[in-house]
Amino acid sequence: MDCATATAQTACFVPDALSVDVEDYFHVEAFADRIRPDSWEQYPSRVVDNTRRVLDLFARAEVKGTFFILGWVAERFPHLVREIQAAGHELGCHSYLHQCIWRLTPEQFRSDTRRALAAICDAGGVEVTGYRAPTFSVVSGTLWALEILAEEGLRYDSSVFPVRHDVYGMPSAPRSAFCWDLGGNCRLPELPMSTVRLFNGNLPVGGGGYLRLLPMAYTSWGQKRARAEGMPFQLYLHPWEIDPEQPRLQGRWKSKLRHYRNLHLMESRIESLLVRGRFKPLENVLAASGEAHTLPLVAGQYASGSSVAAWA
Ligand SMILES: [Zn+2]
Repeated sequence: MDCATATAQTACFVPDALSVDVEDYFHVEAFADRIRPDSWEQYPSRVVDNTRRVLDLFARAEVKGTFFILGWVAERFPHLVREIQAAGHELGCHSYLHQCIWRLTPEQFRSDTRRALAAICDAGGVEVTGYRAPTFSVVSGTLWALEILAEEGLRYDSSVFPVRHDVYGMPSAPRSAFCWDLGGNCRLPELPMSTVRLFNGNLPVGGGGYLRLLPMAYTSWGQKRARAEGMPFQLYLHPWEIDPEQPRLQGRWKSKLRHYRNLHLMESRIESLLVRGRFKPLENVLAASGEAHTLPLVAGQYASGSSVAAWA
């Protein structure tokens, strides 16, 4: 894609977005330097039980969300994909092998995406239209991946975090829903992760480590700010984040801090956010977003972050 010609479309809408990245505790980027995919089979899987707990949590709150499923998980536990689908949630794709896009060639990315879509669609028996990149790895240098997603039949992406961060981030991207203009009348809607605007910068909020590691008051504040700005608040989580009993892995101290801290608090925090929000699957949030106005974007605006928010 020629990023210099990319345009974005922003919009205001009411519903909040709810998403789950369905992966196991040993798939995460925090331990990827020590645990390679060819050793994943050695680890006792907990993703089925943990995802069922998430399903129960959502059922109690009477909310539906989008489950971005790792293809590796869908292939091994197709019944779990069917359980998610039968409960009325949207099925999405979280890649096959959880590799950050910046480590892949376009050919490898296309192959990984195809394999994941085949596994999830075969298991669920429905079309998958949404994509969440591992570790929010749609950044300035990987925008080529969006064109491949569209070519492979995906109809929206939710992988952009408009923040500065030590690993990911696109700090100048729009903070609310927009469309990537891929050229030739092809557009790919994007629902970015939630941020709070403060002192000319964006702070990440809404899930994962930001919800577990920071005081709950911060996330509650972010939820209220999103409402006041007329933006969706996107709550996201991983099934392993509500599993304090998961096996402890060896890793760098920062990785262990990010992964294990406050696991015991996560479920109750999610529960309290669910009752205060108006959560919907992402396809519903994007459908409600409308087409308010168009914002021209320039490739240089999307410089990745480097040093802020290195703790989550
Ligand atoms: Zn992930």
